Amino acid sequence: MSEQAVVSLRNVTKSFGAGGVTALQSIDLDVRPGEFVSLIGPSGCGKSTLLRVVGDLVEPSSGEVIVNGKSARQARRDRDYGIVFQDAVLYDWRTVEKNIALPLELLGWDKGRQTERVRELLELVELQGFGSHRPWQLSGGMQQRVSIARALSFAPALLLMDEPFGALDEMTRERLNSELLRIWQASGSTVIFVTHSISEAVFLSTRTVVMSRRPGRIAAIVDVDLAQPRNADTREEPRFFELVTEVRDRLREGGLDEESTAPGEGELVVSEETP
Ligand code: ADP
Ligand code: MG
Repeated sequence: MSEQAVVSLRNVTKSFGAGGVTALQSIDLDVRPGEFVSLIGPSGCGKSTLLRVVGDLVEPSSGEVIVNGKSARQARRDRDYGIVFQDAVLYDWRTVEKNIALPLELLGWDKGRQTERVRELLELVELQGFGSHRPWQLSGGMQQRVSIARALSFAPALLLMDEPFGALDEMTRERLNSELLRIWQASGSTVIFVTHSISEAVFLSTRTVVMSRRPGRIAAIVDVDLAQPRNADTREEPRFFELVTEVRDRLREGGLDEESTAPGEGELVVSEETP
């Protein structure tokens, strides 16, 4: 099983500093090729840390991380990852086009191919006409779409996304959710997606990993058996609501005690816990 997994985590633990916070404890997880796995849990439970461990941006304190059959370090060197963070990390001195083309430049694509790909991507994230703008001339939501376009530019084997749509309005978020699914299906890439929105997790994923309050452990894994391809109608299906309820229940069992109770609301509102 672990041989064919894109990501294999074995007994992964992460503590910060001497006697510091244990962010992750005994994490075991296999992500298979083509899966869309969401990580959900209360603020501070270690979702970002887990994603960063997979992406070789944080070293685990113990345990094993295998990506595409090699170490996370080697996978990063081989450019197996596309990474999108909550806040767009863009270079202000580069135009939008040049930001999106950065990975392609590093991969040595010729100029013509780069230009063509950037044009496609600008269309995909609906930023046609903004290619020669600078990031600071765009709204936060637009910047985030540039960052998503950049991560998708070279069709990475593994896309790591940390609450990429958290700062966007609901309409834009739902549209980008659908686009992300379309791209995911077309590219066949594997996605690990951090979110604090229950409805977003259910709509997007093939499996939702529910994490417990700190120290982060896997409290439950919910298989999301909604038919593909998913679209706006998916959000109206009875099964969608059942799964939203199931994830919410698993979160409660995981020790989450603060959340929105608005009926029919798939959103999870949690505040940063005090140490
Ligand atoms: P989440 O993404 O689920 O909100 P994080 O993974 O960011 O949670 O953080 C998990 C815990 O680890 C938190 O208590 C956080 O304060 C702590 N933590 C995260 N990164 C660091 C760091 N670089 N140094 C010290 N503590 C950290
Ligand atoms: Mg986080």
